[in-house]
Amino acid sequence: AKWVYTFGDGKAEGQSSMRNLLGGKGANLAEMSNLGLPVPPGFTITTEVCTYFYDHGRQYPPDLKDQVDAALDAVGRLTGRRFGDSETPLLVSVRSGARASMPGMMDTVLNLGLNDTTVEALARGSGDPRFAYDSYRRFITMYSNVVLGVEHHTFEEALEHYKEAKGLDLDTDLSAQDWKHLIGEYKGIVKRALGQDFPQDPQAQLWGAIGAVFGSWMNPRANKYRELHNIPANWGTAVNVQAMVFGNMGDTSATGVAFTRNPSTGEKALYGEFLINAQGEDVVAGIRTPQDITEAARIESGSDKPSMEKAMPEAYAELVRIYGLLENHYRDMQDMEFTVENGKLWMLQTRNGKRTAKAALRIAVELAGEGLISQEEAIGRVEPASLDQLLHPTIDPKAERRVIATGLPASPGAACGEIVFNSEEAEAAKKAERKVILVRVETSPEDIHGMHAAEGILTTRGGMTSHAAVVARGMGKPCVSGVGAIRVDYNARTLSVGGVTLKAGDLITIDGSNGQVIQGEMPMLEPELSGDFATLMDWADQVRTMKVRANAETPADARAARSFGAEGIGLSRTEHMFFDEGRITAVREMILADDAEGRRGALAKLLPYQRADFVELFTIMSGLPVTIRLLDPPLHEFLPKEEEVGAFAAETGLSADKLRRRMTELDETNPMLGFRGCRLAILFPEIAEMQARAIFEAAVEAAKRTGAPVIPEVMVPLVFTKAEFDLVKARIDAMAKAVAQESGSKVEYQVGTMIELPRAALRAGDIAETAEFFSFGTNDLTQTTLGISRDDAGTFLGSYTKNGILTSDPFVSIDQEGVGELVKLGAERGRAVRPGLKLGICGEHGGDPASIAFCQEVGLDYVSCSPYRVPIARLAAAQAAL
Ligand code: PEP
Ligand code: MG
Repeated sequence: AKWVYTFGDGKAEGQSSMRNLLGGKGANLAEMSNLGLPVPPGFTITTEVCTYFYDHGRQYPPDLKDQVDAALDAVGRLTGRRFGDSETPLLVSVRSGARASMPGMMDTVLNLGLNDTTVEALARGSGDPRFAYDSYRRFITMYSNVVLGVEHHTFEEALEHYKEAKGLDLDTDLSAQDWKHLIGEYKGIVKRALGQDFPQDPQAQLWGAIGAVFGSWMNPRANKYRELHNIPANWGTAVNVQAMVFGNMGDTSATGVAFTRNPSTGEKALYGEFLINAQGEDVVAGIRTPQDITEAARIESGSDKPSMEKAMPEAYAELVRIYGLLENHYRDMQDMEFTVENGKLWMLQTRNGKRTAKAALRIAVELAGEGLISQEEAIGRVEPASLDQLLHPTIDPKAERRVIATGLPASPGAACGEIVFNSEEAEAAKKAERKVILVRVETSPEDIHGMHAAEGILTTRGGMTSHAAVVARGMGKPCVSGVGAIRVDYNARTLSVGGVTLKAGDLITIDGSNGQVIQGEMPMLEPELSGDFATLMDWADQVRTMKVRANAETPADARAARSFGAEGIGLSRTEHMFFDEGRITAVREMILADDAEGRRGALAKLLPYQRADFVELFTIMSGLPVTIRLLDPPLHEFLPKEEEVGAFAAETGLSADKLRRRMTELDETNPMLGFRGCRLAILFPEIAEMQARAIFEAAVEAAKRTGAPVIPEVMVPLVFTKAEFDLVKARIDAMAKAVAQESGSKVEYQVGTMIELPRAALRAGDIAETAEFFSFGTNDLTQTTLGISRDDAGTFLGSYTKNGILTSDPFVSIDQEGVGELVKLGAERGRAVRPGLKLGICGEHGGDPASIAFCQEVGLDYVSCSPYRVPIARLAAAQAAL
């Protein structure tokens, strides 16, 4: 079998479409070679080797070694060098590269092939011993850390001590002799830590590094990342081995990263950072402050260090040429890594760049504007769920800010919370429902869980491409990075800056859009949704076929929903209207009454509230459909708590004993399967009658007020048989007639039902004989189909998804095979009886992109979701329609 694919010198055995086999990095290195771009020659060991490795007890395919040797020879021929040669040694980098970029895995080993002999050859060949020893010490620390598992900081400490003793400040102040001395110390550290010498044999080094890449595929951090991002373990990673080019060969050499468009804002301009006389890890590690690429960016940042445009005009011009070429070729924003060796630019990587939602929108809209992609492609370029980032609040600009420091605006949005200094505390706080800001000197892949748990992330080191910045942008969390002025003391659990000292637990706010760190909690503002957002939403609305409604009952929610583009209300949970002060007492009186008369008395108090609520809803949603569901309370949620009984008895004049007796009667072992839904309307028809009256009277009034007809959709919850529905519908119809007579106005309306029990889905044909619409209540349908309580699933569902028993939480993303099958069946059976039956979904799944795609397949007319998910649903519905 072919396990190794070579590239370099304007050609390659692979190409970008072979991502599954070569990984993202390998496929794009091949593609860039084919495009004739300057790529150091190398080869990719395929992901199939990784799969083989794990299928065969961590053994390699028997013919792999020969293929690797042949590929190394080929690279040697192109570079005029030989791997392990004592005169003209070939040095290589070894890097992992999965299909999807994956933090948490072994990343990079540079300068591999150096040992006590080849380092001398490198010194002779380059005429620069300092460069050679600098490369060797980098290799020892990197290899020892990522391959041999020796802690990085032990080397750092040795270096710091040495610098201190010698009175040296910067790494660049160290001479060849200094590095040579430190190399001796480093080798001693390795020997003490491992009980054996640092490997001198280049072949042993190479296979050690290859093994480390494959081994890291299954390390806990990588597993965690895959779990969070639904990446299957059997994808495997590739390994890329590539001839070294050196960015640390003095002042005509450099290394950097650049985006073809700004990954935070989407602005079309070469954007990035570079460092003169450095190797790749220096940029990411944030040890030295990187320099700007363009002169415009330098002026904006106010940096006193020259831009690449000024310092290396030829290499810069080449980068600009390549940037245009790559964008046109990939038709998307690229994230590139490059090295300049003695003035010559080399490309080490390109990939579609990660970006914020804001940038994704702008880039998609502008690429379509430039004619590089179509409007439909633009719709597909934005992850619907990521829009959430734009819907986040920002700090009220009128509020006074106590800015204590400013760092880099690494990921937009504002967040506030208590200070925590490590990821464990962040996670614990999250469990206790406390909001925190994770404050770190820098983050590493070990902090992923803490970053997830935090509202926002603050680091004192690292640039826009540091780990914290990249990961936070991916997560859509606000992040301020590189706040050098803040000093963090992990031991004392404090941060201090300019005379201010804050402790763990103190409140701070970060503004990821301008890099500010603010003491205390700030007032937030709702986001504004215009510009590119509106444009893309407009394009999405043109192609989607499903309508998007909102689940809303309060005026505030209804208004928010409408401003987000909701095309009506798909579910108004009337029981949520009863929790307000002044109402809950009447509701309790109604529930606790022993007879219909008692209930009528309480209901009479509720009628004006309900009517006023509905008038407001109909007015806000004027011209759009509004579905109102009859009361569906799990009764226990409304009953007074034991300690409230006394006060409640006093307020209502009922006897406390009698109250307790009635509460015991109503007590249910399993309220979710108890006296709720239409069961209530059937036993206590006066409740449904009051609500129907409120709905119809409100419709008449709102129509008068707005001048637009109101056609309410009255929805009956939790039916499992047509007979239940018909009983309730008869009451509603009678009330409509009564209100029409009393008001002298025409009352138009529809009566439909929720399909949220398996039996209702199965008997949808019967039910559709009289029901005028269906709305799938997939929350209860999931609960009752899987037999998993909505309220108690948390205790075990997590380990179900972790262990792969379920691919995702069925209450978040619809279980297509089971619950989905029932939805499909219900839709088909309903429409077979009543062609054109209006179908919607109003469970939480109505706002989940994967579930929305499923709804499109089934042929639903609309999805209904919470107001903040409306834009997400509009975009997801458009993508589903394409
Ligand atoms: C449902 O069950 O899916 C539904 C929307 O109703 P509720 O969540 O109010 O039970
Ligand atoms: Mg329900």
